[in-house]
Amino acid sequence: MRQGACAVGFTVACEVDGEAQELYTRFIGEGRHGAMGYLANHIDIRRDPRRLLETAEARSLIVCAFPYFTPDDTREGCVRFAAYARGSDYHTVLRERLGCVTDMLAQEGYSARICIDSAPLRERYWAVKAGVGFVGLNSQLIVPGVGSYVFLATIVTDAVFEPDEPCRLGCGACGRCVAQCPGGAIGPDGSFDARRCLSYLTIEYRGELPEGLKLGDCIYGCDICQQCCPHNRGAEMTGIEDFRPREAVVSLTRERILDMTRPEFGAVFAGSAVKRVRLDGLKRNARQGG
Ligand code: SF4
Ligand code: SF4
Repeated sequence: MRQGACAVGFTVACEVDGEAQELYTRFIGEGRHGAMGYLANHIDIRRDPRRLLETAEARSLIVCAFPYFTPDDTREGCVRFAAYARGSDYHTVLRERLGCVTDMLAQEGYSARICIDSAPLRERYWAVKAGVGFVGLNSQLIVPGVGSYVFLATIVTDAVFEPDEPCRLGCGACGRCVAQCPGGAIGPDGSFDARRCLSYLTIEYRGELPEGLKLGDCIYGCDICQQCCPHNRGAEMTGIEDFRPREAVVSLTRERILDMTRPEFGAVFAGSAVKRVRLDGLKRNARQGG
């Protein structure tokens, strides 16, 4: 019962290893998470997912990767949304798809919680442990043979499963994303500074954008470090209809956004992850591009 997932892996819930903890502590300590203050919260749970269930100690993590790639069919003269944001909100879509798995676990008397960017959980770290893929220098989870255009969803449960072998692959000497990132957000060792990343600035960051920042036709997010990655060459169109681009989104011009009213924004982005940035944020981004 894969529910459209392109990879599924199991791993044992336990404490995050020391090196990964140290890297994360440094990331937060150096302020590279920018204004995403929530990343510095619940550090104890982030270190140990056994504490994620309310009524029991978690024993396993089931990590699922769902493909979302679609060719970029942004219409001529229109602004560009990151590939993940052109269709329906993955949080809702994946929660619905995995509901039957948690129902089955509940029928067997187990607790289970679905985490999709919604809990203090090191999702990519656990995806590696569960053998689903490896983390590239671009900080994306790369599923061998599929690429990085995947959403991760993790089920944390007190049921026990046979664990998979961790994924031991890596980027080798590639380095394309380091060289091509427009903001210089990716260090040669894969260290990441959100404050220099166009995705962070256009989606998460609420203030005025840095003076002189050039967004070009990007309005929401950035896919450059995925587009240049050799693991995404020949990426296949997702089979999940909900992730296909919405015509109303890929045909938006900058002028249309600048003139948009709140009700129009609500109608165009109903059920879309773009709602996160709100109309003010989208207009701010539209003013910066071109
Ligand atoms: S999303 Fe864009 S700006 Fe951010 S790290 Fe990737 S290439 Fe750089
Ligand atoms: S572009 Fe190259 S270095 Fe960057 S994530 Fe992909 S394989 Fe790794």
